[in-house]
Order: sequence, then structure tokens, then C-alpha cells
Amino acid sequence: MIINVLSGKGGTGKTTVSTNLAYVLHEEGKDVQLLDADVEEPNTHIFFDIEIDFEKSVDILLPVVDKEKCTLCGECARVCQFGAIVVFPKTVMVFDYLCHGCGACAMVCPEKAISEKPKSIGKVSFGKTKEGIKYGMGLLNIGEPSGVRIIRELKKEMREAQVTIIDSPPGTSCPVVESLRKSDFAILVTESTPFGFHDLKMALRVVNEMKIKHGVVINRYDPDFKDMEDFLKRENIPVLMKIPFDKRIAEHYSKGEIFSKHLKDWKEKFSELYKEIEKIRSDVK
Ligand code: SF4
Ligand code: SF4
Repeated sequence: MIINVLSGKGGTGKTTVSTNLAYVLHEEGKDVQLLDADVEEPNTHIFFDIEIDFEKSVDILLPVVDKEKCTLCGECARVCQFGAIVVFPKTVMVFDYLCHGCGACAMVCPEKAISEKPKSIGKVSFGKTKEGIKYGMGLLNIGEPSGVRIIRELKKEMREAQVTIIDSPPGTSCPVVESLRKSDFAILVTESTPFGFHDLKMALRVVNEMKIKHGVVINRYDPDFKDMEDFLKRENIPVLMKIPFDKRIAEHYSKGEIFSKHLKDWKEKFSELYKEIEKIRSDVK
């Protein structure tokens, strides 16, 4: 089963949920893999001692224009959705930092004046944690415009496992959609605030559109913020877990520790969370 952990915005606690869930399921004897697809700022590695055994650069193909062949027709600039190739009256310029390496400009060039050269935009790494959890991480180089290729490569190279947990990028843009592809279940992590509620609704639109079964984890749970829970009840969206403000959790988190390793009650709660996911998945609807 592939479980995606996502949130409409950063800092809501999705890494807390994915690392704790991976740890608890591994403790129960399951063959678990944790993939960090938050490629702009991967941080699941902070919580584990990891030995990397495989690394691979992820490249895109940048266009190179042969000025001798180019007639300045402008077709390449017209097809580029990212403004990465611009045709001036006397020359053509490629802006590497805007280019997504889609290859469209080379395809449409009537003079075959565009060739392509590889450029590394980041890497994927794989290994195992000290406990034995299979681990993978994508890292996008600073300044690169999109992590979609890195996430695609991370998923292509991922290993076989009974349960794979993907820590998604925050937000609801293309990298999130890429990380959600072929997932069996999505855990949407939010917090009890109007901002959290707003971003949760956006994340719900994505999983609904992609027809992925899902449930919600409310982090920093505030029982006085009723709007979100009323909405989830009305929409029949299951709340899988509520994580309140808890000094013990904050202390472990600040030390880079998985809190369910130290707090038995939370170990049981994450175990229950997984059982609930299995139950929802098996519901035929
Ligand atoms: S499409 Fe080809 S010929 Fe036309 S401007 Fe671009 S590089 Fe030059
Ligand atoms: S490869 Fe794609 S993104 Fe890059 S310049 Fe060509 S059309 Fe634009």
C-alpha cells in the first residue's frame, strides 16, 4: 500500500505524521519504506540514522540553439510555457533557470536548430535507517524551478515494500500531484486555524479530483475551533487522529526524536491510525 502524507501548507506536521507512522509500522514487523518527496526541503532524515547505499543525479535536457541554422522565426518562444526561451530581433536566448526541460522548443523548431545538453537539477538517494526502515529522499538543487522530475525519479527507483509512506511537498501544485500519483490513500494533515482550514479545502479538492481515498489528521488540535470539524462531519470525511498541544511531543520533536518511540500512548494511536486506513480502503464505495 502507498500512503501519501500531505498538507495544504508547510509547517503543519506532515513530517511528524509520516516519520511516526513509518516507525510504528516497522516496530509492528511490517516491511516499511519512507520516501521524502518534499524535495525543496527534505527533513525526515533528521529523525533517523540513515545509511545511504545508492545515489543518482537527476538531469533535465536544456536547449542549445545553433545560431547558424536559426532563422529567428519565433516558434520556440511561442511554444515555451515558462518564458525560458526568448527570440530577440537579432538573437535567441535560453534562460536556464526558467527551463523545465520539456523539449517542446526542440520539437517545434522548423530548422532543427535546437539540440539538447543535460543539466543536473538534483538527486535521489536510497538506503536504510538504523532500525531497518527502507528510506528514499529527493533533493532539488537551490534555484531550480520544479521538483516534479526529482519526485518522478524517486518513485521510479523506490523499492518494493508492504507499506510505502510518502512525505509529500506542501501545497497543492504540480509536485504534490506527482507525488500523489498511484497512491492508495492520502493522509491530509492540517491544524485548527482558519488558515489550516482554508488550505485543507484546497488539498481536499486535489485528492477528490484524483479519486484517492483519504482522511484527515488535525495537528495542534484546538477543540474551540469548531468550523473545520463541523465541515468534515458534514462532508463525511474521516478524522483519523487529533494531535493536541502536548509539551512532551514538543520536547521530543525539538530534539529530533520520534515521539511515539518514547510515548507508548502515541505508539498505540499511530497503530490505530493505520488500522483505520485499512478499514477505509476496504470500504467499497
Ligand atoms: S524555432 Fe528554431 S529557427 Fe525558430 S527561432 Fe527558435 S531556434 Fe530559431
Ligand atoms: S525545453 Fe521546454 S521549458 Fe525549456 S526552453 Fe524549451 S520549451 Fe521552454
